[in-house]
Amino acid sequence: MDVTVDGVAQSVTTGNLPQWSEVESLVEAAHRRCRGDTEGRVADYIPVLAQADPDWFAVSVAEVDGTVHSSGDVDVAFSIQSISKAFVYALVCEQLGHAAVRERIGVNNTGLPFNSVIAVELNNGHPMNPMVNAGAMAATALVPGRDPDEQWQFIHAGLSAFAGHALQVDEEVFLSESQTNQRNRAIARLLESYGRIALDPLAVVDVYTRQCSLLVTAADLAVMGATLADGGVNPVTGRRVVSAGVCRDTLAVLAATGAYERSGEWLFEIGLPGKSGVAGGLVTIAPGKAGIGTFSPPLDPAGNSVRGQRATAYLSRVLGLNIFASQAHTLAANRGTHHEH
Ligand code: GLN
Repeated sequence: MDVTVDGVAQSVTTGNLPQWSEVESLVEAAHRRCRGDTEGRVADYIPVLAQADPDWFAVSVAEVDGTVHSSGDVDVAFSIQSISKAFVYALVCEQLGHAAVRERIGVNNTGLPFNSVIAVELNNGHPMNPMVNAGAMAATALVPGRDPDEQWQFIHAGLSAFAGHALQVDEEVFLSESQTNQRNRAIARLLESYGRIALDPLAVVDVYTRQCSLLVTAADLAVMGATLADGGVNPVTGRRVVSAGVCRDTLAVLAATGAYERSGEWLFEIGLPGKSGVAGGLVTIAPGKAGIGTFSPPLDPAGNSVRGQRATAYLSRVLGLNIFASQAHTLAANRGTHHEH
């Protein structure tokens, strides 16, 4: 299939999921297999997040035809946290273009935790990538708008378009993080000192904290992910949110940096771009096929949901989603799927 990206016709890899009933039962199986896992710790550095029930667990898959499969606590809403970074980045890419975001925010992994101050210092104030807090705040600062309120309206409208409905802010989470985010304020000030943030850094932190406080469910995350899997068109609403080129760029950055310093392990186990948040959400994208959303609060030491990663790794295997997997051409030919020459 040919699409035009940045004025150049490109071929894209696509593929099909198994039929509806099989996906439905595999989503249930993913939930059943992983619900007994008790590893990981619920985040408590944002005080209100510590109240989360460690047993909450939901798995959703949204196909690019708009079909959504869910199992578990899919009605429990939680704050999107760092997962917002992926979607704000896509919205900023749409505005500024490939070259500008590459230069100003960067696309390389820091190898350090998401809220690292040292990473900023080691890189002479360059934020390195949009999935760590420094780069995410740098991206938020680039959102169009005359003041923080207009910037917030832009982010709220954009993330709501990814989800397919108007998202709400969890004011309790916003307040709890606002009172305890000295570290993010320090990172924003540091970026300012390097001339990397042109706006009032504390106003940028405030908009960033608000975007992290938006409430989503696992099914919302699946649909948001499916929009990135679907060349930028939300498969449930049919509305274009970003271009196909922006999806491609965002997914490349997620593959390299979506699980912070554990992005290599993530890619090794799951083989797909994804993004985690400290409230326990996880979004994973199978380009051309589906978005996977999971929710389970206990986290690994880097801040990625443990059950979410395991359920996603299972689904990646059984649904044939790993982008690095192939089989010998001769095997495919024997099954009659080779091209006529
Ligand atoms: N709002 C959180 C923070 O800035 C998001 C971190 C995360 O989800 N990893 O610390």
